[in-house]
Amino acid sequence: MEITDVQAIPLAHSLPDGQGLGDARGFGTDRGTTLVRLETDDGAVGWGEAFAPGPMATATVETMFADDLIGMDPFEVESLAERSYTDPYHFGGDVVVQSAVSALDVACWDIIGQHVGRPVHRLLGGTHCEELTPYASTMYFTESDRPIEQPIREAVEEGFTAAKIKIGAGLESDVERVRTAREILGEDADLMVDMNGNYRPHQALESARAIEEFDVTWIEEPVPPENLSGYRELRKKIDTPIAAGEAHYGRFEFKELIDDRTVDIVQPNLGRCGGLSEARLIAGMASTENVAVRPHIWNSAVGLAAAVQFAASLSSYPHTRNVPEPMLIEFDRSENPLRSDLLESPFDPSGGSIDVPQEPGLGIEIDQDALERYRSD
Ligand SMILES: [Mg+2]
Repeated sequence: MEITDVQAIPLAHSLPDGQGLGDARGFGTDRGTTLVRLETDDGAVGWGEAFAPGPMATATVETMFADDLIGMDPFEVESLAERSYTDPYHFGGDVVVQSAVSALDVACWDIIGQHVGRPVHRLLGGTHCEELTPYASTMYFTESDRPIEQPIREAVEEGFTAAKIKIGAGLESDVERVRTAREILGEDADLMVDMNGNYRPHQALESARAIEEFDVTWIEEPVPPENLSGYRELRKKIDTPIAAGEAHYGRFEFKELIDDRTVDIVQPNLGRCGGLSEARLIAGMASTENVAVRPHIWNSAVGLAAAVQFAASLSSYPHTRNVPEPMLIEFDRSENPLRSDLLESPFDPSGGSIDVPQEPGLGIEIDQDALERYRSD
């Protein structure tokens, strides 16, 4: 089997003026991303996502990888990650290169799964897994004056039993938002907060202590992703687990997060971290330091599918059945047709669980009409 066609497909969707979504750093309206489609000589088609802007990711796939991919056996998938660090030398850790590798890697795993008739999570060594627990990513900062409790109420009505909310825009606002979310979710639900790296360590510490009474499951990116000394400082002073990883790329950056438990939870994004091959290495490193792995997902449905398969493959080490800890999977509740419209059978988080596709590969079918509707080239 060999790859005969490589396509990078940029997708874009923009929210209307005044409807931008935000985190503590500001508002955004662009939900663009890039899909990769690989085809083999036996007619198999594999999909992956580079969670990076179309023009950059497309150029990277086409100029750095496409020629060498033609004729490659998808079973040689791990050679992609190896090549990304050695050829193009000096560009290996670059976010766009890692995003391109992520897409190509996931597309190869999709094809391998189809070839052997197994879902990807089984190929990665996971046990049989039918469903995961989704958490609603919600309570974004908005440009409109929508009541802050409305989105978390909607998530509860949909059946979510866990949620992550945006904070990080000041102490008073943090406490108000966390208190509101906790009241609506109920006291047993997992509630996570995301500061999006908007604080200096002393500000994050002050906020973490102020919201401690609301029993937060993890605090995400309390300080900027580059500020590893800030993470180490906070971990010594905060009892709540700290999570990071959505802005880190490749095994070498994740090693820094994992070593000496700089954070308690790493969050590789399957469209940026280097793909399933790299994520598997990251999960292996994390297990040696007793660091948990919970994938970050703000992608299209293809990136979501890769993350679902990856999460379904993860070991629960060191937990036994006596210490239940659900494999929480992020499910963005903001408007994004690239997530909701791109598959023939979209993922459905209602009812508080999400089905893990059991069909071969990623187990997804792309809706070709939707693909054409949102492609931006
Ligand atoms: Mg985040």
